[in-house]
Amino acid sequence: MEKITEVTRTLEFTSGQSVLELSYLVAAILFVLGLRMLSHPDTARKGNFWAAFGMILAIITTIVFYKDDQGNGIKNLGLIFGALLIGSVAGWIIARKIKMTAMPQLVSFFNGTGGAAAALISLREFPNIDPSLLSNHGMFNGQVLVILLGLFIGSVSFTGSMIAYGKLDDKIRDIRASFLKYVNIILLIIVIGFFVYIMSRGPVSPDKLMPVIYLLFTISLIYGVLFVMPIGGADMPVVISLLNSFTGIAAAMGGFLYHNDAMLLGGILVGSAGIILTILMCKAMNRSLLNVIIGTFGGGGVSVDREIGTIKEISVSDAAVLLSYTQRVVIVPGYGLAVAQAQHVCNDMVKLLEEKGVEVKFAIHPVAGRMPGHMNVLLAEAEVPYEKLVELDDINPELPKTDVVIIIGANDVVNPAAEDDPTSPIYGMPIIRAHTAKNVIVMKRGMGKGYAAIENLLFYADNTRMLFGNAKDTLQNLVAEIKSL
Ligand code: NDP
Repeated sequence: MEKITEVTRTLEFTSGQSVLELSYLVAAILFVLGLRMLSHPDTARKGNFWAAFGMILAIITTIVFYKDDQGNGIKNLGLIFGALLIGSVAGWIIARKIKMTAMPQLVSFFNGTGGAAAALISLREFPNIDPSLLSNHGMFNGQVLVILLGLFIGSVSFTGSMIAYGKLDDKIRDIRASFLKYVNIILLIIVIGFFVYIMSRGPVSPDKLMPVIYLLFTISLIYGVLFVMPIGGADMPVVISLLNSFTGIAAAMGGFLYHNDAMLLGGILVGSAGIILTILMCKAMNRSLLNVIIGTFGGGGVSVDREIGTIKEISVSDAAVLLSYTQRVVIVPGYGLAVAQAQHVCNDMVKLLEEKGVEVKFAIHPVAGRMPGHMNVLLAEAEVPYEKLVELDDINPELPKTDVVIIIGANDVVNPAAEDDPTSPIYGMPIIRAHTAKNVIVMKRGMGKGYAAIENLLFYADNTRMLFGNAKDTLQNLVAEIKSL
């Protein structure tokens, strides 16, 4: 009888384990499928849904079917469901209430919470490790290393993302003190020292090492703040994608620790996607990653000591005439288009111009807006056909043949100082060369600066006319005027 019960228990255990493994496989397929779908605006929404579905599946099956080596299921179910409920409701409310313009900072905030979760896993699991792993041979012990890496990378991702959140929300300004990079290098050396110290203790109770672990945790949190603090202006997109990949890597460490394939794979996918994005962003900014982390962009100068000239304005009716009786128009969207939420009316204008036989394209700069792919998402929302979106390298050669370039709420990404002013903080960043077009119309509210907080001499150029006002109102007036022609 006892044997039968044992066999039944073993059968239950193995069938539960099989369901779990199968569900992780399905979740993995859904993650990859989701990522693939995210690469095109038409399928991105569905991609997000399928990847989230994969994650929910992995969470539910883990809670229901997970058993440890002794056959015990997950404990503390009340706490787990409580946390799930609080997290889901809070996330749902925040995501529903947040304005579209505050989305970049929200993404940074959520990324930071992922890093914090990974760091807390390491803090929680360190006291549970086998003391023998902390022997002299422990230098090569994977489990201890995984815990320490999860703690360090997760903490850096947490505080770094919170600083990035503050910067994107205009609550925190850059501190561009060059001594900070030496402080950061010293902190990194201290962190490595802690790793070596902890991993090479003789057999000792992990509890005894907890004060050292808390110290390492604190230093890692401080490093995250100081690492992001001096990086600013045009380098922020690179840092944001790097922090995304940090959170993924920290989560993957949790997956290693718990032998959980879904967590491991999810973390690796986020980590590698973040690294690929970081490389693409570095390429877009013409910078090496090392240069972003320990260097400062360009010469660091802010104001240009030269004759600025005068600005020339254009009226809505003159702009409507210029646009309607021309052949080629290129629109350069920027952060201001997102602020004004003018993407739909912008598309209305494009349709009107096309009805009049004008060829219209959009020039997309990789760091326009406040998050990677911001303009693509914004224009996809307004159902602008994807084929109309042309990337920087492809549009620039076409601009000298373009009759009118309309810049809508963009500033840094069209600033010629990036090409001709070595003292400029954005010197060396590739730009959309709007100044080479026959005519340039700039739509913005006033003479406000862009994210890099520098003057833009394009606004004073002979071929530039300013069309002041909130982009949405200006475009609405322009649409009405074009219709009346
Ligand atoms: P910028 O931030 O350079 O300029 C935006 C311009 O839009 C401002 O000059 C502002 O001028 C104008 N504007 C704001 N609101 C409105 C409105 N309602 N109507 C009309 N105009 C408006 O934007 P860009 O897109 O050119 O450049 C992006 C910058 O952000 C780069 O420096 C990039 O490095 C940085 N960044 C990008 C990230 C990314 O991942 N894409 C992340 C973090 C930073 P005014 O006030 O006069 O209206």
